[in-house]
Amino acid sequence: MKLIDGKATAAAIKEEIAAEVERIVARGGRRPHLAAVLVGHDGGSETYVRGKVKACGECGFRSTLIRYEDDVTEEELLGCVARLNADPEVDGFIVQLPLPPHIDEQKIIEAIDYRKDVDGFHPVNVGRMAIGLPCFISATPRGILELLRRYGVETGGKKCVVLGRSNIVGKPMAQLMMQKQYGDATVTVCHSHTRGLAEECRTADILIAAIGRPAFVGPEMVKEGAVVIDVGTTRVPDATKKSGFRLQGDVDFEAVAPRCSMITPVPGGVGPMTICMLMLNTLAAARHDCYA
Ligand code: NAP
Repeated sequence: MKLIDGKATAAAIKEEIAAEVERIVARGGRRPHLAAVLVGHDGGSETYVRGKVKACGECGFRSTLIRYEDDVTEEELLGCVARLNADPEVDGFIVQLPLPPHIDEQKIIEAIDYRKDVDGFHPVNVGRMAIGLPCFISATPRGILELLRRYGVETGGKKCVVLGRSNIVGKPMAQLMMQKQYGDATVTVCHSHTRGLAEECRTADILIAAIGRPAFVGPEMVKEGAVVIDVGTTRVPDATKKSGFRLQGDVDFEAVAPRCSMITPVPGGVGPMTICMLMLNTLAAARHDCYA
């Protein structure tokens, strides 16, 4: 069994990005600029946004963090999005999700200029991704594709099972694994209403779990020699940790790993790649790679 090291891969990619940024700056260009909008003080969101700002520093990007309290109105937030859309100094921006319940998340996502939507959540980017046109691909599935590529995992013609059908992970992952120019695999998507889920999973050469159910995938669900990608990151109580919790994946790692040819750990697998792909999307936005 080989461990797929997302942390080391992400570090290598960030070095590649930083080198490219220095080439851009040496040619007289300006540093890519990512803005992040954070509403409220949710612990998880704070951590993610801090990680994104830190990654900007590592890549030589400029970053701006815009904060609002939980009681921000939808109009105020839409105003902020409009300002960022119009700001020529900002190449790309994200609005950290989830937003408080009084704000219509979809309305905010659709207000973002798709040419600056480096999260890849705007319907224009989602639609272009689905038909294989240049676009910003959402960071988690893009990171998984990159891990598979860099670890030499053959996907063409293979059987891939995606567990979960969320808009940010399961659906785009399945789309990308199915498309000729990316995975070129035969894809099955499983969800909470799938019958015979364990049997479906056992058919997978590549199993991608994104359901948010700690240690849900056991060895009886995994074919001998499969490649297993664990997207799940659930905080479970752990008295041995200073924080009082640890991150648990959707896969029962200890039991499943011996059956796999390759597997991602949690933490240190998919997670670090997600932030890294946001950086790649921001670089692409600054270079106008996807849109003029
Ligand atoms: P989500 O929006 O909650 O979607 C979960 C999906 O899993 C749904 O499609 C749901 O089915 C399905 N599901 C839930 N329980 C199931 C069960 N018992 N059997 C089969 N399917 C089941 O979650 P998400 O946003 O995609 O995130 C999934 C996990 O990935 C979470 O742990 C999240 O923290 C993690 N995540 C990690 C990263 C990273 O960078 N590492 C990024 C994003 C998400 P229905 O559609 O039928 O409800």
